Amino acid sequence: MSTSPSSQKVLCVLYPDPVAGFPPRYARESLPTVARYPDGQALPSPASRDFTPGHLLGSVSAGLGLERFLVERGHRFVVTADKDGPDSVFARELVDADIVISQPFWPGYLTAERIEKAPRLRLAITAGIGSDHVDLQSAIDRNITVCEITWSNSTSVAEHAVMQMLALVRDYIPQYGWVVRGGWNIADAVSRSYDIEGMDVGVVAAGRIGLAVLRRMKPFDVRLHYTDKHRLPADTEQELGLTFHDTVESLVGVCDVVSIHCPLHPETEHMFDDALIGRMKRGSYIVNTARGKICDRDAIVRALESGQLAGYAGDVWFPQPPPGDHPWRAMPNHAMTPHTSGTSLSAQARYAAGVREILECWLDGRPIREEYLIVQGGALAGTGAHSYVEGDATGGSEGGAESASGQAG
Ligand code: NDP
Repeated sequence: MSTSPSSQKVLCVLYPDPVAGFPPRYARESLPTVARYPDGQALPSPASRDFTPGHLLGSVSAGLGLERFLVERGHRFVVTADKDGPDSVFARELVDADIVISQPFWPGYLTAERIEKAPRLRLAITAGIGSDHVDLQSAIDRNITVCEITWSNSTSVAEHAVMQMLALVRDYIPQYGWVVRGGWNIADAVSRSYDIEGMDVGVVAAGRIGLAVLRRMKPFDVRLHYTDKHRLPADTEQELGLTFHDTVESLVGVCDVVSIHCPLHPETEHMFDDALIGRMKRGSYIVNTARGKICDRDAIVRALESGQLAGYAGDVWFPQPPPGDHPWRAMPNHAMTPHTSGTSLSAQARYAAGVREILECWLDGRPIREEYLIVQGGALAGTGAHSYVEGDATGGSEGGAESASGQAG
């Protein structure tokens, strides 16, 4: 199809297709219906969608279900997983791209240097939540709109965080290992296993995900704590029996389990360093499904090795994909996953629809929903104005180039 004068080049970075091939049949026939998000926000509402909810949408061949829509309108749609280093397809195609779409699970890092080489770039869409892979300061300076699909995978992440808290405290993964190896070693399997009941559990940030985690943990009969830049309404604190801490230091000093749910920005980068972890009780647990760089990589390893931390779990690393020898792969008592919590098949259906909605608005000259905005008009905007600070947190992302494909065959 020939391209019209208003034709846009849309460059999309997605994770590689499954090495085992697309499922010939999915595990479930359909997704449950979710009418609205918990605070009443409406789900994505594109004019139409060219994909089946519940199918794999976030890998290269699936292209978030966007190809037909874009090509029929005369736009160019380039999809790649080759994203790191100056010779990557992403770096080469970026030079005349108008729109970039990237998922935090397999981030196409948009550093200042890359933005400098992309004079046509006007819109960067995060297919998911968390736009720290974009140098937001450069986007502000260059008047690039940055947006994400607010709420699309917040509940998905909350479920994952609760799963990982329980996996750590009950020490689930080694127990599963004994079964797979043909053993019945109960004494070995329970030597680090506890009940979470009665523990002090805290979240760093009680935004969409953090509050969803607190709500889900309430029935476990734990004492709940949180810290945030803004305090929750008094009736929410009362309903959940929350203790507010005005500093993260105060929170970690009393908690047995800490789950991290703030965005990565210059204020939160390396927040969990030797000093902060040193203020925790010996034998505490950290779950981090927010961003890898909120924790100091080597401080986490040291704390697990010394026993200051009894366990660490989460799904976020830095850079992504991490190299094969990243120390978090081999450190003791961890329960890490690759960055999967926000890309369940359920979440993919929501954020693919959200990306389509944003593209329909942008290409038709209609405003993008306020709640999707991170940067617009040369300033933090919408959700970005509430949850982020100006600046850049992409430093060091070039290390991703050393990670090869990130796929084990
Ligand atoms: P929200 O914007 O709803 O919540 C973020 C919260 O963090 C807000 O309450 C904000 O405070 C608070 N916050 C910001 N800076 C600080 C700080 N310095 N100290 C304490 N609190 C702070 O976002 P979500 O809950 O939906 O998502 C949170 C993060 O989780 C995302 O930014 C992303 O990094 C990560 N995420 C990870 C996913 C995954 O797949 N692992 C998927 C989705 C998100 P306030 O607004 O009160 O100022």
